[in-house]
Amino acid sequence: HSKDEGRNNYAFFRTEMNERVLERMQLENALRNALREEQFELHYQPQVDSANQSIVGFEALVRWHHPQQGMISPARFIPVAEETGLIVQLGDWVLNEACRQNLAWQAAGLPPIPVAVNISPLQFRQSEFAATVARVLAHTGLPPECLELELTEGVMMDAAERNIETLRRLRALGVKLSIDDFGTGYSSLAYLKRLPIDTLKIDQAFVRDVVDDTDDAAIITTIIGLANNMRLRVVAEGVENESQMRFLIAGGCGFQQGYLFSRPLPGAEFESFWRRRLSNAVNAD
Ligand code: C2E
Ligand code: MG
Ligand code: MG
Ligand code: MG
Repeated sequence: HSKDEGRNNYAFFRTEMNERVLERMQLENALRNALREEQFELHYQPQVDSANQSIVGFEALVRWHHPQQGMISPARFIPVAEETGLIVQLGDWVLNEACRQNLAWQAAGLPPIPVAVNISPLQFRQSEFAATVARVLAHTGLPPECLELELTEGVMMDAAERNIETLRRLRALGVKLSIDDFGTGYSSLAYLKRLPIDTLKIDQAFVRDVVDDTDDAAIITTIIGLANNMRLRVVAEGVENESQMRFLIAGGCGFQQGYLFSRPLPGAEFESFWRRRLSNAVNAD
């Protein structure tokens, strides 16, 4: 009996493992296909000024419309794209599309503000990454200060000479740099001082319970103080309600992003939202 059970467990384990490997392979193939067939789309989420809620920038977030499975979340496919190297090609597409769209909006009379693009570690570590960014700017015609690159703490803190050189080159191009999900990695404060960055984005994990959890509140207050003292912009992510917003404003957090202001929206909807906000602001004057 127990021998049978062992065999069954083993068989079960093997089946489960094969299924996972198979699912991975299917996802990888589907991703390759999606790149060819252009099944990706960008959604945009505003970043607002804490003082008056005006839109000062927006983050581009990739979406995958799978013909059979519907919308697949980036949390599921970005890790696979990263492991398979497909992120380089996908990241190029995202960068181009975000810059093209931002310039198109400027051409249509909307204010010139930066679009923030998430850059994966593998993409950043390509030796030609800075050259790629320069090429995209030249090709789309977007002014460099209208592009912000969101990098992770891991990438920023990696002292490899080549990384630092890439950061310098990006800085020299005139694009803005921000650290995404700040507080979740292992930033060295001494290192932070030497990095050519503009913005810290406070991870939404700290924002979630900031009103009730005194530890999260202390962490957020500390990050805001650090950023303000270092003359860095600070953006809180994942702001969902008014009490979080009030806490952040009281703490001196300059900028906010989250469902309270808007979910990430498809381009056309984001544009309408933005125009509505602008005309309301004019009417309020
Ligand atoms: P992220 O860059 O930290 O983006 C913020 C995520 O939080 C987004 O999830 C956004 O939709 C979500 N979010 C915004 N406001 C709220 C809120 O108030 N509450 C909650 N609960 N969530 C909120 P999304 O779009 O699913 O993206 C997840 C992650 O996938 C991103 O985290 C980023 O790391 C990655 N990602 C997305 N697009 C790209 C891309 O084009 N390239 C790369 N390399 N990574 C991307
Ligand atoms: Mg981001
Ligand atoms: Mg983030
Ligand atoms: Mg995140």
